[in-house]
Amino acid sequence: MEQKADSSPARTGMRGKMKALSLWLVICTAVSSARPFHPEKDNEEDAKLVQNYLNKFYAVEPDPNQLGWKINAESAAEKLRKMQQFFGLKVTGKLDNETLEMMKKPRCGVPDVGLYGFTLPGWKKTKLTYRIVNYTPDMSKEDVDKAVEKAFKVWSAVTPLIFTRIHRGIADVMIAFGTKVHGHCPRYFDGPLGVLAHAFPPGNGLGGDVHFDEDEDWTTGSAGFNLFLVAAHEFGHALGLSHSNDQRALMFPNYAYISPSEFPLSPDDISGIQSIYGSPPNSPDKRPTIPTSPEICGFQISFDAVTTLRQEIIFLKGRHLWRVYPDNSEAERELISAFWPNLPPGIEAAYENTKDQILLFKGNKFWVISRYQVLLGYPKNINTLGFPKGVKRVDSAVCNKNTGKTDFFIGDKYWRFDESSQSMEKGYPRLTLDEFPGISQRVDAVFQQKGLFYFFHGPKQWEFDPVAKKVIREMKSNSWFHCWHY
Ligand SMILES: [Zn+2]
Ligand SMILES: [Zn+2]
Repeated sequence: MEQKADSSPARTGMRGKMKALSLWLVICTAVSSARPFHPEKDNEEDAKLVQNYLNKFYAVEPDPNQLGWKINAESAAEKLRKMQQFFGLKVTGKLDNETLEMMKKPRCGVPDVGLYGFTLPGWKKTKLTYRIVNYTPDMSKEDVDKAVEKAFKVWSAVTPLIFTRIHRGIADVMIAFGTKVHGHCPRYFDGPLGVLAHAFPPGNGLGGDVHFDEDEDWTTGSAGFNLFLVAAHEFGHALGLSHSNDQRALMFPNYAYISPSEFPLSPDDISGIQSIYGSPPNSPDKRPTIPTSPEICGFQISFDAVTTLRQEIIFLKGRHLWRVYPDNSEAERELISAFWPNLPPGIEAAYENTKDQILLFKGNKFWVISRYQVLLGYPKNINTLGFPKGVKRVDSAVCNKNTGKTDFFIGDKYWRFDESSQSMEKGYPRLTLDEFPGISQRVDAVFQQKGLFYFFHGPKQWEFDPVAKKVIREMKSNSWFHCWHY
């Protein structure tokens, strides 16, 4: 699963190269010799974390004589190199901050290498059964049932597989919640965070079974861990998929929240599962009907952020962006991560400045993008733009190309930033309604086109003339998409 947007930025920033170096020494010491060494306490903790991580996820290889794994004899540096390669980090075989941060992200307990480096043969049948053995107290039984059913549907939508629930006896996929050492499972859980769940590849006995760590907070929403998303990932393993190093894939090892209304499979997941089971029967032109996500024209859509970029207008929502050329007909949908691999989903504000750059905001961080590349040194804290400490995020932003001033909207107020002096103007925040009569609600997104402003709130949009200071018309939020083409 994709990397989680929010790790621990404060800690990352404080770590220096020296520290990374001494950390690496600790590991080498621990692995290769028993030479006494007295590092700082949190270094010791980090070293332990790294060692555990590599042993858990990078220390196994297929044992040809038995259906299982054996410990490989690689050095810690070799394992680390494999891990860095898998996650698309700089491959050095040495520990650095980026690698350490990646290791701290909540993830699946299934190893990234070894037996799981391959696509497995899968089940020899298309009709599979599942059973929910026990429940988590975090959610209602009904919600657990729904999350599990929906997670199976993700896979049955793109394959000939049919899943049937049974309430007693042995099912192909036995689903259970447990903590630490649980049942007869050879793997154990690690308390809150870290490993969230694990699953076994198709087969008898434990084969196909899925276990969730009861020490996590399981939810139906974005708080804690979304059971549907984690279940869908684990079911991928139960069907024979290994981890993908494609950050957009559901089968990426790390947890990332995406809206449950979005279809969670990436092309990589779909081609993986179809290489085992084929595509669903009765599908026209042999390709599955994959729900487009989120559907722009189908229902009332809201946007996280909108910005111009030269001739284009870019609409952002969740993990997608749409590029719209106002004088052209087709909107192009892309994954944000395909454009900018290091950017998190759920960008909250975006604007194009006077230098053809775009600035993207999420939480208290922002990135500057020039010629489609994220500039070095970003993300930075929004306080560096002149916001006082108390400001933790912005809802939306727009640069008025005629004045060179950028307005940042937060709640029912706005701040004004001077692009030429790169400083916040005095006397702000002010009420949005005073400068923009008719714009009385929080501004989700805003952009400027041909001198006019377009304000978004929920499924609505207002065209605003900044010179006459009035709303010209109210429109639907998706008016820039040529919906009749769909
Ligand atoms: Zn996994
Ligand atoms: Zn288990």
